[in-house]
Amino acid sequence: MFILSSPSGAGKTTIARKLLAQDDRIKPSISATTRPMRPGEVDGEDYYFVDRPTFDQMVEDGAFLEWAEVFGNCYGTPRAEIFHGLKHGHDFLFDIDWQGTQQLHQRAEADVVRVFLLPPSIDALETRLRGRGTDSDTVIADRMARAKAEISHWDAYDYVVVNDDMEHCFAEVSQILHAERMRRTRQTGLVDFVRKLTR
Ligand code: 5GP
Repeated sequence: MFILSSPSGAGKTTIARKLLAQDDRIKPSISATTRPMRPGEVDGEDYYFVDRPTFDQMVEDGAFLEWAEVFGNCYGTPRAEIFHGLKHGHDFLFDIDWQGTQQLHQRAEADVVRVFLLPPSIDALETRLRGRGTDSDTVIADRMARAKAEISHWDAYDYVVVNDDMEHCFAEVSQILHAERMRRTRQTGLVDFVRKLTR
């Protein structure tokens, strides 16, 4: 389980998309959310969009590996898909917040790598959050406060990457994924391979 968290505006979506496009061993974890769909989003691709009673029922049924309320909306990782995929040798990319990261990390059976992306400066973040410049100063101030709250959890991650250049940041995140796959304990089949070498 490869977790990528960041404040919004730090370029996480771009990095995640690039990683998924270039590496077919890693699949996206598609969360369920009660947040309304944004223009351009696709149900079942970006999220499973559900209403609050459905979400609450899923919580009650134990359908989530983790779930959290993030800025007024609920988000959760459906358990069944992830376990099925992991069993078949896939890695999963999680775009979840610090609360979900903590929950996954605390599960005894979870094999988790946690990566946090930071913006290169607070000005760069504000410029990105201002987007097309159509939002009011109150909206921007609210987004900045949320971003700073998310950043305050940076020290609960295994890796921290500053996204000062998208290509460079992508290369570093890819290297982390590659190195973590090379860990002895994650190389399934190694025991048989070494046994044959030493027979
Ligand atoms: P957005 O609404 O902008 O897509 O996402 C808002 C925040 O919710 C982001 O920080 C994102 O990482 C987080 N998030 C998305 N899906 C999940 C999930 O399944 N669990 C948790 N804990 N956070 C999530």
